[in-house]
Amino acid sequence: MKYGVLGDIHGNLTALETTIGYLSDQQVDRIISLGDVVGYGAAPGACIARLREVNAIVVKGNHDAAVAGELDLMYFNQYAREAVHWTQSVLNEEETRWLSELPLLVDLEHCSAAHGTYERPERFDYIQSTTDGDPSLDAMVRPVCFVGHTHVPVTLLRLTEDPHRTAYTCDEILDLSEVDKALVNVGSVGQPRDDDPRTACAIFDSEAERIVLKRLEYDIECEAERIRRAGLPGVLGDRLFMGV
Ligand code: ZN
Repeated sequence: MKYGVLGDIHGNLTALETTIGYLSDQQVDRIISLGDVVGYGAAPGACIARLREVNAIVVKGNHDAAVAGELDLMYFNQYAREAVHWTQSVLNEEETRWLSELPLLVDLEHCSAAHGTYERPERFDYIQSTTDGDPSLDAMVRPVCFVGHTHVPVTLLRLTEDPHRTAYTCDEILDLSEVDKALVNVGSVGQPRDDDPRTACAIFDSEAERIVLKRLEYDIECEAERIRRAGLPGVLGDRLFMGV
């Protein structure tokens, strides 16, 4: 089975189209989306429609929950809050219900997926260190779990020969044959924050026991212009050029 994995689309349609185009070329069997379909970007409805069109498996992110009215906006900064209100005003009832009905966690045949952490997905905590990742790695019921949320690609690993030690790697090709567990953050489609503005995704080939992390150029100007035209804060378009 070949999975195309992407996350944190944040209403960025051009980046999503570029990513889905690439994953189709690579002939993936199934697309997994790791949450935050909406928020920040100016094409939330079109991104929802595109994911439904390709029959993606989608988990719920904190921005999805916020737009569905399920999350206190206290922890959101000013721009994120403005974007939540704007997104609520442009989505129809059916799209909002779709966001609300997304699961927080899925356990598939070969891997699992959640937005923030595996063990307490409803908290939307951030994994920013090996210590942060340990509770998820301990709780995982599959050897591989994909997460997003930080918008920074990184993999936490426990090797078969030393399953009690958690290490990390930023390698773009991961050979899983000697891996006990891998917690893989694939980065963000629509708002990368690792100083690399290119859109991010991964391909997980369960038979080959291999994950490849990929970055792709897309038309950022087109998406920044859409954000400006929508009346969203200009900074949300500007940051796309810098990958922050
Ligand atoms: Zn996000």
